[in-house]
Amino acid sequence: MARLARTAGLTDVQQEILSTVRDFVDKEIIPVATELEHKDEYPQEIVDGLKELGLFGLMIPEEYGGLGESLLTYALCVEEIARGWMSVSGIINTHFIVAYMLKQHGTQEQKDTFLPRMALGEVRGAFSMSEPALGSDVSAITSKGVKDGDEYVLNGQKMWLTNGGTSTLVAVLCRSDEGHPEGTAPHKSMTTFLVEKEPGFGEVRPGLTIPGKIDKMGYKGVDTTELIMDGLRIPANRVLGGTTGRGFYQMMDGVEVGRVNVAARGCGVAQRAFELGVSYAQQRHTFGKPIASHQAIQFKLAEMATKVEAAHAMMVNAARKKDSGERNDLEAGMAKYLASEYCKEVVEDAFRIHGGYGFSKEYEIERLYREAPMLLIGEGTAEIQKMIIGRRLLEEYRFQG
Ligand SMILES: Cc1cc2nc3c(=O)[nH]c(=O)nc-3n(C[C@H](O)[C@H](O)[C@H](O)COP(=O)(O)OP(=O)(O)OC[C@H]3O[C@@H](n4cnc5c(N)ncnc54)[C@H](O)[C@@H]3O)c2cc1C
Repeated sequence: MARLARTAGLTDVQQEILSTVRDFVDKEIIPVATELEHKDEYPQEIVDGLKELGLFGLMIPEEYGGLGESLLTYALCVEEIARGWMSVSGIINTHFIVAYMLKQHGTQEQKDTFLPRMALGEVRGAFSMSEPALGSDVSAITSKGVKDGDEYVLNGQKMWLTNGGTSTLVAVLCRSDEGHPEGTAPHKSMTTFLVEKEPGFGEVRPGLTIPGKIDKMGYKGVDTTELIMDGLRIPANRVLGGTTGRGFYQMMDGVEVGRVNVAARGCGVAQRAFELGVSYAQQRHTFGKPIASHQAIQFKLAEMATKVEAAHAMMVNAARKKDSGERNDLEAGMAKYLASEYCKEVVEDAFRIHGGYGFSKEYEIERLYREAPMLLIGEGTAEIQKMIIGRRLLEEYRFQG
């Protein structure tokens, strides 16, 4: 199985980290994932194990107690974890995005306050842009932060908050008109507020309610919630970066690395689906031979493996581009788009190879079949990726006539 999705040019340290994570996935995640998923149970023991491995601080700089690793190392770890269970990668993903946003855009005081505790997994991050009436169209956000003395008062309703219940620090994107008069472009009148809260459901802090878990078709175990702000008071020093009006750019920066991460999840789930398909195809017999001996099934396996390889290569390319300090929106958009579409196709082929048994909850592929669609939506749908890719291509290939 190790033949597929190899990454050339990794350092000894990267290889060691990946082999530790893979070992953890094989021993601690895969054996329990399907049962926990069916019960929609939060994988507390797995999360504790990830904390011990230092995964929550993987990309946080060493000066703040993290491992200071690259986006590539992080993405490859996410790929391994998603191969075991996609929900677990979701638990660290939003944490990683918030830590990244703090590292890139936070004031020194904000970094000093949050990053060391985030590296230990004591403070756990979530990010909140989406609202009941919008997801793709971030510029239409209606939640509002209004200045009142040394504080901001936040009102509004948020939707689809991954880790909404378990997190203790939520980066919330709101409109903030203060300093930005009526008519200011939407992306210049938004602010990211760092909202600290208790974990759990109900009123987790005065003015802030997390109503409960949204019941989902897949991606279970990890909690996804709404978030309601009703006169929530936030001190002015909890504006990310200390200045209002920069929230849109900060969030887009976070989502850009998040897209590499979603691509990595697609790669991991597709790899697992391939493993399950290729194994089942050699055990199941029809017409006197293993179904793997039928050319039609071999063709499926060939297509699946090719897609696993292609998605992995694009994901690695996007991560390396970001690590080199260059803008990677084109590569991240392409990688996210391709990896999530291929993931869905590889999972479906593995499902078909399983015949009727793929429909049974006894087989792992049933879980993967319900998980893959989330990747088509999260961190921007396929249509949104294509809009980003298309716009960027027109910039690069501007007609010179
Ligand atoms: C399980 C889960 C977890 C999530 N976690 C988070 C989270 O932690 N934080 C957060 O902020 N959000 C989160 N989201 C929200 C997610 O980012 C949005 O669902 C996603 O961006 C799509 O937005 P929408 O659902 O409002 O769909 P819409 O924006 O309403 O889109 C509906 C359809 O129209 C298409 N469409 C929209 N605009 C265009 C256009 N201009 N051209 C062509 N087609 C278009 C879309 O591609 C889609 O097919 C999560 C979602 C899910 C399902």
